[in-house]
Amino acid sequence: MVDLNQLKEDLVTANRILADNNVLDSFGHVSIRHPDNPGHFLMARARAPMCVEIDDIMEFKLDGSVVSPEPGKPYSERFIHGAVLEARPDVTSVVHNHSPNIVPFTVVKKQCFCAVMHMAAPVGRNIPNWDIRDKFGDATNLLVTNMEMARDLTKSLGMRTVALMRGHGCVVVGRSLREVVFTSIYTEINAQMLVKALAMGEVTYLSDGEIAANTKGRAGFTLERGWENWCRQVDRPYHPLAWDMGPGFSCSDK
Ligand code: MN
Repeated sequence: MVDLNQLKEDLVTANRILADNNVLDSFGHVSIRHPDNPGHFLMARARAPMCVEIDDIMEFKLDGSVVSPEPGKPYSERFIHGAVLEARPDVTSVVHNHSPNIVPFTVVKKQCFCAVMHMAAPVGRNIPNWDIRDKFGDATNLLVTNMEMARDLTKSLGMRTVALMRGHGCVVVGRSLREVVFTSIYTEINAQMLVKALAMGEVTYLSDGEIAANTKGRAGFTLERGWENWCRQVDRPYHPLAWDMGPGFSCSDK
């Protein structure tokens, strides 16, 4: 039985951690599927992530409509979360961000954003770069403000972990809140490292086999270790979750 109040506290913590780690700034958001109703999700009202409090958490249907009494205006791009959760039963948590080191990779003609270091392996290869202009023309403000746009973005994401959004940012998905926070932080770090590597010369990316091995072997222990440290950094209480070592646990995770 999931403690809903604790889950909301964790969602507040996730907002603070992502803001502290250069993933979210005054904008961007993180959601989690409702533990008792897979057709609903939880997300803060439209507020800067570092400022989010537990009373800001709202409940939505997957079509983006508001379920709970409104503590305030909802994020205009909440549809991204609904569409991903609708299409991907394996996904529990979604982050949409404008990570500063990611955006340059969304505007270069030749797609070159791939995982280059083991902690960022779930980022993968052949990452799609969704362009809102392809289907919705050049008169949009680039924001994903309805389900039709969000479903189109989700189609581009497919079964991957990350989809870039041209001139905007990206969407990152996870099987848990801790996982999506972990992957979002390491997606941004991967981008920082890749920019440096590309400036130095030809880059060796992780192989498909290395990506698969690292992703499969990412144990709850690893996510928990990051989460505890990030809680400390933002001065939020750490509530440990039970974890297992994962099917492919290896010493590289330690
Ligand atoms: Mn956005």
